[in-house]
Amino acid sequence: MKYYSTRGNDGPLGYEEALLSGLARDGGLYLPESYPAFSDDEMRAMADLPYAALAGRIMSRFTDGELDEAELAAMAGDAYAGFTDPDVAPLHHLNGNIHVMELFHGPTIAFKDYAMQFLSRAFDRALKGAGRQAVILGATSGDTGSAALEAFRGRDAVDIFILFPDGRVSPVQQRQMTSIDAVGAHAVAVSGDFDDCQAIVKQLFNDHGFRDRVNLSAVNSINWARLMPQIVYYFSAALALGAPGRKVAFSVPTGNFGNVFAGYVAMRMGLPIERLIVASNSNDILTRFFEQGAMQRDVVTPSLSPSMDIQVSSNFERLLFELMDRDGVAVAGIMDRFAETGRFELPDSAMTAAHRHFSAYRLDDAGTLAEIAASMETDGMCLDPHSAVGVSAARRAIADGTVAADIPVVALACAHPAKFGAAVSKATGTTPALPPHLADLMQRPEKMAKADASAAAVRDLVLEKWRRG
Ligand SMILES: *Cc1c(COP(=O)(O)O)cnc(C)c1O
Repeated sequence: MKYYSTRGNDGPLGYEEALLSGLARDGGLYLPESYPAFSDDEMRAMADLPYAALAGRIMSRFTDGELDEAELAAMAGDAYAGFTDPDVAPLHHLNGNIHVMELFHGPTIAFKDYAMQFLSRAFDRALKGAGRQAVILGATSGDTGSAALEAFRGRDAVDIFILFPDGRVSPVQQRQMTSIDAVGAHAVAVSGDFDDCQAIVKQLFNDHGFRDRVNLSAVNSINWARLMPQIVYYFSAALALGAPGRKVAFSVPTGNFGNVFAGYVAMRMGLPIERLIVASNSNDILTRFFEQGAMQRDVVTPSLSPSMDIQVSSNFERLLFELMDRDGVAVAGIMDRFAETGRFELPDSAMTAAHRHFSAYRLDDAGTLAEIAASMETDGMCLDPHSAVGVSAARRAIADGTVAADIPVVALACAHPAKFGAAVSKATGTTPALPPHLADLMQRPEKMAKADASAAAVRDLVLEKWRRG
């Protein structure tokens, strides 16, 4: 399988090169040259596979000639061995035609574990194969950092440094990062805000001497190998509900557009997905795009679902590439215009293609609290704020006829309610308990480094702490 950039000026690369590079050299994102499809017979044969075997079957289509199915299945088995539900991504019937897929059974109880746990093993294997070491550097406002530190802790070939704004992440999120005591894993409290942390990461990636010296890598959601494992749970849910003989729809709480794009890839691989519902909070740039055909940047407003407090969705460029019939030059032009003016519009033909598969809904904080309370009261299910945004969109898509009455809708539950306990308590009057493996989290000792909000301070810290390769 060959990979090409969405901006038409980088590629072909193999799977491992795309994995280790992350972002393409022309500023674009890597995509496979095609989406290998499964026949109905092949899908029927997949219906009874355990999760790790299913993961191996699906991902092997994208690693052709480099990693085989058995090896991928073993990596997935190892990645998901510690998950607290044997089904890994279990379905829960909510009511009527709505099912909730629980994606919070990993170590940090948010869906980013599903990708990150696989990615860390993929990195380790690729680096060891090449006899290389790497330093991973990232900034987090919460969920990504804890999932990354948890996944990359103790990997021989990788030292990981995650910057977070000192005093500005939730207590649970901070303790999930700082309670990790492993060689090569570093939570770094930066005396600044999230934008400072991100700016430092950017500056250090642009410091080519430093970048080459430590072999700097990133694990943000633009990495294709982070999307690959997310395709798997769309298959597992749809097959459990009767695919390929029965169509399904998915409702996806969306921020950077990575998760819902994985659903789009599953559809292109032959899964009968009738509709992908993009669910946003009051940061509704995507909802407005699907309504109006124009992407118009706005300011970010903090909400109860902070992992979706995003204006520019980094993975949207992948869909844009498809909507523009894979014309990388056109995509590069559109992205340049967006960077300059904060706005772009798409031709009718592209919007027709978008509306064929996607619908979009928004929900503000008041609606989110009401949805959490209603799901608790009528269905006995405690949703976190992100999941509530998705379930509400699913309900409305059924009510307004966007999804036909006989089609099951799977709403993705992207975090455990205890991760956002304050919002849940506000909605229901009860603070949800952390799952048993995290019950003593807040009593665990903290270990963290501190750094001033400057690239030089963080660079010095990395050079002091990394294990030289
Ligand atoms: C990251 C995250 C999202 C957004 O997912 P994207 O792939 O960025 O669209 C939604 N909910 C939760 C809980 C998250 O951690």
